[in-house]
Amino acid sequence: MSANKVTVIGLGPMGEAMVNAYLDNGYLVTVWNRTRARADAVAARGAIVAPTVEAALSAGELIVLSLTDYAAADAILAQAPPSAVEGKVVVNLSSDTPGTVRAAAARLAAHGAVQLTGGVQVPPPGIGTPGASTYYSGPEDVVEKHRATLEVLTGIDYLGEDPGLAALFYQIGMDMFWTGLLSYLHAQAVAEANGISAQRLLPIALKTMDFGYFLEFYAPRISEGNHEGDVDKISMGEASIRHVIDTVEESGVDSSLPAAVHGIFARGMEAGLGADSLTSLLKVLRRQ
Ligand code: NDP
Repeated sequence: MSANKVTVIGLGPMGEAMVNAYLDNGYLVTVWNRTRARADAVAARGAIVAPTVEAALSAGELIVLSLTDYAAADAILAQAPPSAVEGKVVVNLSSDTPGTVRAAAARLAAHGAVQLTGGVQVPPPGIGTPGASTYYSGPEDVVEKHRATLEVLTGIDYLGEDPGLAALFYQIGMDMFWTGLLSYLHAQAVAEANGISAQRLLPIALKTMDFGYFLEFYAPRISEGNHEGDVDKISMGEASIRHVIDTVEESGVDSSLPAAVHGIFARGMEAGLGADSLTSLLKVLRRQ
């Protein structure tokens, strides 16, 4: 039955977790991966390894792509004739920019295929677990038609018809994720340089990185355009980050990350925003 068939192209950690989730749920899974040996583990569990990209595409209607980026998807799809995607639903769960994703959706549409864009919100061990979710965008009726199959992987957070939307929300999330996580690693390097272990820092890191209070405080003020320096001032932040950089240097740790943060505060000061709140740095970031 076609409802229980799926093709997965891309067997990195994420694609492999997806194949395993489908196998666990009794799906007939066809796979293809550039490096054939990476398919061995899922083949041993019953996945069918397609000999060619064309064979992988012809195995069913729903094609899941889990690749490093859309250039990888292009390189793979170019190995099959363009007509091989006709009538297919290509669920691209690879990371890329909204513009790249929209262009890919248009190219697929020109060959009679529909693209659903997805931005997975969990790491590979989260696939198939309750509470996991993925941003999706593209035609809503196609999402609904394949809801059961998509939900084997994660819940569906549907954002709208524009194929770029899921990529946009995903990249906004990654903007917070990478800078936030790197700030944790940087703090850990300073801690280690001073003999403080990761376990010792953990409760402090958890408390410090719990930004919920600040987000709820600042979001309405940003919406109102209220950047009043009644609670915090850029001048205070700029001095504080200088103290951080000095502490980092004293500890013998690389200070390029706090230096980049300081650079943004310094531009706020140069723009005459010293007496305003941190949120007025949006004017610097927007390049106003
Ligand atoms: P990887 O970067 O490890 O994915 C590698 C896959 O892409 C492999 O199948 C690899 O093939 C293939 N690939 C890369 N370049 C090419 C190319 N030029 N031609 C053909 N195939 C290529 O990523 P993950 O598996 O970790 O993740 C997949 C996607 O999911 C990424 O876009 C990632 O951003 C996203 N994601 C990942 C999360 C994670 O925690 N891992 C969390 C949320 C989203 P080969 O085996 O031959 O190298």
